[in-house]
Amino acid sequence: MKINQNYGNLAESYLFSTIGKKVNAFTAAHPEREVIRLGIGDVTLPLARPVIEALHAATDEMAEKATFRGYGPDQGYDFLRTALQAEYARHGVALELDEIFVGDGAKSDVGNILELFDADNTVLVPDPVYPVYVDTNVMAGRRILYASATRENDFLPMPDACVRADIIYICSPNNPTGAAYTRAQLKAWVDYANENDAVLLFDAAYERFITEPDVPHSIFEIDGAKTCAIEFCSLSKTAGFTGTRCSYTVVPMALKRGGTKLNAMWLRRQTTKYNGVSYIVQRAAAAVFTDAGRQATGEAIAYYRANAAMIAAALNEAGVWYCGGKNSPYLWMECPGGMASWDFFDYLLEHAGVVGTPGAGFGARGEGYFRLTGFGDAQKTKRAAQKLREAAAALQSR
Ligand code: PLP
Repeated sequence: MKINQNYGNLAESYLFSTIGKKVNAFTAAHPEREVIRLGIGDVTLPLARPVIEALHAATDEMAEKATFRGYGPDQGYDFLRTALQAEYARHGVALELDEIFVGDGAKSDVGNILELFDADNTVLVPDPVYPVYVDTNVMAGRRILYASATRENDFLPMPDACVRADIIYICSPNNPTGAAYTRAQLKAWVDYANENDAVLLFDAAYERFITEPDVPHSIFEIDGAKTCAIEFCSLSKTAGFTGTRCSYTVVPMALKRGGTKLNAMWLRRQTTKYNGVSYIVQRAAAAVFTDAGRQATGEAIAYYRANAAMIAAALNEAGVWYCGGKNSPYLWMECPGGMASWDFFDYLLEHAGVVGTPGAGFGARGEGYFRLTGFGDAQKTKRAAQKLREAAAALQSR
């Protein structure tokens, strides 16, 4: 037999294990020092009350013969998809129910969607990037091109008429940079994709962090997107579902490639290989979109946003360049004094007891940058922001 040799082409990911080892070594050497993690990409607040109540109620339904549920509908329960349809309508996007697929995570959906496309296609990903986009294509043996995200383009690369790609990833608001595309910028990507027979894979995992009116929550707010885009969204960061698992993917009926509707292909793929998210979790997900759920999850988002604002204020005071934080829980800072990102990681841990994520771990263009997040505890974030300000200011004046 022959194994998939492409797995041999995957770059080892040492990013989070190296961070863990360095932090453990530091804590062992300095047990008296407080270490605050400003690098985590996971949420820390518990599920909102209305979500917990829905989970309990649905669990009780499963205990009674009259209300027990077995396998659910292929694309997800109507009560959840109707709620999602209404959520899109709030942003001016009209969707048919059959365009919405409920899933167990944006990570799996983003990876699995690639089964619809031949291995021969060329992929365009931004650099720096959420590593899943790269690794899932390496596994399939696809050719990958990188669109440089740099300080010059505010970490928002735009289409290049000279670059020909078939599958294009856009994550806005972005992980790791926190940068978010405006309407006009997304229109340029939509036009490029329609003109070049390409498909945009639009990751909206952080859409609820958007504060600026010119930043769309959905790619389908852009004219022409329904003939070129698939959108992935998740309740992980928007409602604290990282451990509960629920996502949704929109494949428009108007999206055809090679004469075939991608919606029909994705339905076939999902019904063949997937049996859906549990009834209990779908009830919990639907509770997010009730008035009470919106209010409670909105409070958690506001908490994380306030953390991000504290970090942003510290960077402003220290005179450090950064992007993100406005429409995103992520801040992407330039390492002070021209430091390399791992050197800054070591410096910040040693001098401030603060842990972030070195930008180099997200791609070559991430070197010299550093990712911080608002997902931590508010009191700890306040202390860490103060220490970050002092450390950055000291380095700036060196
Ligand atoms: N997309 C982006 C950009 C992410 O940062 C993450 C998680 O960190 C995901 C998708 C995965 O989300 P999920 O928990 O729904 O699999």
